[in-house]
Parts: sequence; C-alpha cells; structure tokens
Amino acid sequence: MPAVLGGFLPALPGALLPALVGTVAGALAGAVVPGLAHRMAAPVGGPTRSACRACGQPVPSGAAGWVATRCAHCEIRRGPPVVVTVVTGAIVLGGLAAARHDDPALPALLGMAVVGLVLGAVDLACLRLPDPLVATAGLVGAVGLTVAALLAGTPGRLLTVLAGAAGSALLYVVLALLPGSRLGFGDVKLGAVLGLPLGWLGWPSVLLGLVLPHLLNGLVVLVLLALRRVRRDTVLPLGPALLTGAWLAALLA
Ligand SMILES: [Zn+2]
Repeated sequence: MPAVLGGFLPALPGALLPALVGTVAGALAGAVVPGLAHRMAAPVGGPTRSACRACGQPVPSGAAGWVATRCAHCEIRRGPPVVVTVVTGAIVLGGLAAARHDDPALPALLGMAVVGLVLGAVDLACLRLPDPLVATAGLVGAVGLTVAALLAGTPGRLLTVLAGAAGSALLYVVLALLPGSRLGFGDVKLGAVLGLPLGWLGWPSVLLGLVLPHLLNGLVVLVLLALRRVRRDTVLPLGPALLTGAWLAALLA
C-alpha cells in the first residue's frame, strides 16, 4: 500500500473499502451475466443453448460463446440488457460486502451471489433453474462456508449451516406438495441451497429468508395484476424472489 494511502485508508469507516471493492467486482460479474444467462436459458432437454435464438447460427466456440452480449451474426442482444445486470451485480455484491465485511464467510456469500445473478436471469428468461447452476451455487456455498468456519476456528457453526439447508429443504418440499402449489422442484432445490448461507447467519436469518421471498413475490404479483401485465393463472418465476429474499436477510443479519 502506498505510504500516502497508509494514513488515509484506516480512517475510512470499516465498511467503505469492502463496499467499493464489492461494487466493482459485482459490476464486472454483472457484465458477463447476459451471455451466461443466454447460454444457460436453454429449452427443456438441452443443458445449454447451442444456436442463436433469433438467426439460428451456432453459438461461437470458446469464451465468446459464453460471455458475448450480442450475436456475432445478427447482432441481436443475448440475454438481459447488460446495463441492468451490471447495476444489479454492483448493488448485490456491494451491499453484501458492506453489510458482511467482517464476516469470514464473505467470499462464500459473494461467490454464491454471482451464481445467483445468473440463476435469476435464467429463471426470468425461461422459468427454469438449471440443476448445474443450482449445484454450482450449493458447491460454492458448502466449500466456502466450510473454509470460513475452519479458518475462523468455529467448525461447530457448520451444524447450523446444514440445519438451515435441511430445514429450508423440508419446508419447500412440503410447500411444493400442497395442492395447487405453483412451486417447482427447481425452487425447492434453490431454497435448500440458500438455506446454507442463511444457516450460517443464524436462525432469525433462516426465518427471514423463508418469509421475505413470499412477501416480495406477493407484492410483485399484486403490482403486475394491477398493471394488467399478468393474469391470475400466469406462471411467474419464483427464483428471483428467493434470491432477493436471501440477499435481504443477509443484509439485515
Ligand atoms: Zn443471431
């Protein structure tokens, strides 16, 4: 660290520097979300999309096929507008870094949030939460939280992590099996995975993470109904509400 900054940085409030780093990292992650979401938002049956949805030309091989935000052939936009995903990524990761800057699990939370950005975009695009993505979020959470618990010398905390995931999984399975439930099994799996970080944060967070998504979802449905953008029987994605609820619970923990 340059000497001139050495005297200045410690004077900053503890959360400011992590918040700045998180915001920049979130914006960078958000920039690759449209391409990734476009590839992962494949119709049922295929793991990923192999051709442009507009012109049918094959997706380029290599990294460009995953992160390009426009089709190289017809120049149609791939995935959601990049400005939306960059701003969302900056807010999501910046908020987490500011709120949890002294938490040893911050890297795990940020890693899960990046996968969550792609999951949210894919669910909005095609009402699916692909297993490989949900599994990636689970793996990042399980490995990241284990490392955090061991480094912090609190391995016992992993029990609450597991209990949070198991409790969330059980509740979502019951909800999905209720007659007339619109909960898909992708939602159940994501709910269970999000129980990992919520469990780390403690039982009040698990509870908040279970309640907030349904409040948020209800609010969005009411607004969309009032604007006549949807009908009562329109199937809407729940993934973004699950992710936003868990994110808010982490900020409030
Ligand atoms: Zn095209």
